[in-house]
Amino acid sequence: AAKEHGRGRFEVFVPSLGARNRRASQVEAALREAIERGEMSLEWQPQVEVRAWKVASAEALLRWNHPELGAVEPSEFIPVAERCGLIADIGNWAMARACTEAQAALPGLAISVNVSPVQLMQEGFVEHVQQALRQSGLPPSRLEIEITESVFMDDPSAALSHLHALKALGVRIALDDFGTGYSAFQYLRRFPFDTLKIDRAFVRELMTHHDARAIVRTIVQLATTLGMHTIAEGVEEPVQLEVLNHAGCQSIQGYLIARPMPLLRLLPFLEGWAGISRPEPGELPETM
Ligand code: C2E
Ligand code: MG
Ligand code: MG
Ligand code: MG
Repeated sequence: AAKEHGRGRFEVFVPSLGARNRRASQVEAALREAIERGEMSLEWQPQVEVRAWKVASAEALLRWNHPELGAVEPSEFIPVAERCGLIADIGNWAMARACTEAQAALPGLAISVNVSPVQLMQEGFVEHVQQALRQSGLPPSRLEIEITESVFMDDPSAALSHLHALKALGVRIALDDFGTGYSAFQYLRRFPFDTLKIDRAFVRELMTHHDARAIVRTIVQLATTLGMHTIAEGVEEPVQLEVLNHAGCQSIQGYLIARPMPLLRLLPFLEGWAGISRPEPGELPETM
């Protein structure tokens, strides 16, 4: 069909439905063997407390490197894993691995591990977390799980009972990507969140949209009133750090601090951290 339009005509390549389905089944087939073949690993991204300028925690992010498909991003393979019933195996692997790495090599650091809503709802999920803690020896207070707002949509009461069971173990709960999905204020009160993570979308808009600043200030005030810790994700610029700090946001995470990295690079990073001072924003734009 593209040929009929004649030469020199530019067309954007959009993969057909067939091509997309083929890719999805390739990914699914490969995913079934990924853990056994040792293709999964974790990277860690530091989280910094702004006032103390201290790395207090790190988020574990799943990485998959397949010999033919190459590096497949979590945003592609996690949804596939959720659809084809592999999310429990993959999620349990990530949880166990994160607890083991943290207890073995990251003394004193708290960790966060992402948990898909599908995984959270699964029977035996809480027992798996308990097992990961026991086998690694990681104190529950050093573990936080991150879940997104989509958890409210399916079956809030089932999610709630698993979250309360985790809280009873002493595990912390964070609400990830806040503001992008189904945010209802009543869920903030009903669910036992310890931490609220402000989505990267708001942080990005801090540079260009005045109302983004007002929104971020309001989110931080609300979270603080409800007794939650606030952290902003996707912080890339010193000026974003400054605005967030001014708004009362306690912690930040993003390329400004560091990209996610394997454990073996996180260790020297943490050792060198004492020598890194807080970046100066330069002249703050007057619109602040
Ligand atoms: P998330 O939990 O919101 O993680 C943040 C994502 O933003 C990560 O992408 C991280 O690499 C990226 N990021 C961090 N700082 C910056 C920044 O300053 N700028 C920009 N542009 N990006 C930044 P990643 O690693 O590709 O993960 C994407 C999503 O996949 C995660 O979003 C999370 O929802 C999911 N995911 C990752 N690992 C796991 C896991 O072990 N289990 C589950 N269920 N989901 C996971
Ligand atoms: Mg996360
Ligand atoms: Mg997030
Ligand atoms: Mg996000």
